[in-house]
Amino acid sequence: MSPNPSTLRLPAVLLVLALQACAGDAKPLPEPPQEEVSPVLAVPAGMGHYCSMLWPEQGWAFAWGPTTNSAPCEQLRAQAAGGDVARAGLYSAQGRNNVISRCADGTVGLWSGLGASPLQSAHADATNHQRKSCVFTVAPDALPIFDAPFSLMTRVFHATGFDFAQDVPLDVADFGQTGSTTAHIVDHLGRDQSNANFVNNHDGHDWGMVTGTPILAVANGTVLLARDREVPCASPIQKEVYVQHDVGSDEYLERFVSYYAHFKSYVVTAGQVVRKGQVLGYAGSTGCSSGPHLHLAVARLTNTASEYRRDYSIPGTDHPPMTSNIEIYGWAAPSGFDPWAWRNHPSGALSIHLWNDGQAPVNPNF
Ligand SMILES: [Zn+2]
Repeated sequence: MSPNPSTLRLPAVLLVLALQACAGDAKPLPEPPQEEVSPVLAVPAGMGHYCSMLWPEQGWAFAWGPTTNSAPCEQLRAQAAGGDVARAGLYSAQGRNNVISRCADGTVGLWSGLGASPLQSAHADATNHQRKSCVFTVAPDALPIFDAPFSLMTRVFHATGFDFAQDVPLDVADFGQTGSTTAHIVDHLGRDQSNANFVNNHDGHDWGMVTGTPILAVANGTVLLARDREVPCASPIQKEVYVQHDVGSDEYLERFVSYYAHFKSYVVTAGQVVRKGQVLGYAGSTGCSSGPHLHLAVARLTNTASEYRRDYSIPGTDHPPMTSNIEIYGWAAPSGFDPWAWRNHPSGALSIHLWNDGQAPVNPNF
């Protein structure tokens, strides 16, 4: 259980009362403090800010600073007016980062390394080749913000099948694996999972579990939608919940949406602020499902390959486009780059390991 904030805030309340007593103030007593949940997540330790900007006439700049007090966008604007932020967000000051550079001549650069080194390499390459209109998209390998979506004591079966291929056949040798040259589904280790029980466009994780198992919010956030969705399957009503998670603030904000499907029932409503570990509903097999399980998918809404920020409008009864869903175990193949982010679908996004320490549900297949 989380500590109760109203208990934690008690000393401050007593102080206010004491001051009022000293001043002889006759104002009514303050309202008892409401139990507040912040929908905004603190930036994990060790992150810095980066900023990629564009100017008319093909000008570009790329800057970064190793702390979340760093203000690279502000610094770039101070150097030259009239620029627009193309990408800005978080990178790991010490840990591993991935960088994609895209320039007007069509070149796409892929860089990976520790701390600022891949950012420096991407910047140097674009500078040395005098490339124009370069945009730099960065992602840390890990941004630990999520807890498990169910008690880790729960007995589950976890099958993996994230569709990094998205209808474009992949050669798993590109990722340091042996086997298929025409894989349609690969997992986060680059292995062919095409023969598993997954169809194309399966961009999430499935954990088989007992009906009624509590499903928990992976982090503080705001419920975007909790609904019964009509689907063309044997069980025609799919019960599902979408929660938005904001990390950091202002122009360096990173935003994700967690999507939970196949509930037996859900207990939250749109607009509700939920805290990490709060029960969203109970596992079931509603909608397009062959047995009781949780389907969890995560979309990245900031710093995708094609956009600085994207909307996540949920039109009518449809499911939002999954073009920027990411693999929340990160991309961890022995070699090669997260293909979803650049090669097959330039509208994708770099995957990020989002689990807090000890919170990733273990997958015997991994
Ligand atoms: Zn699924």
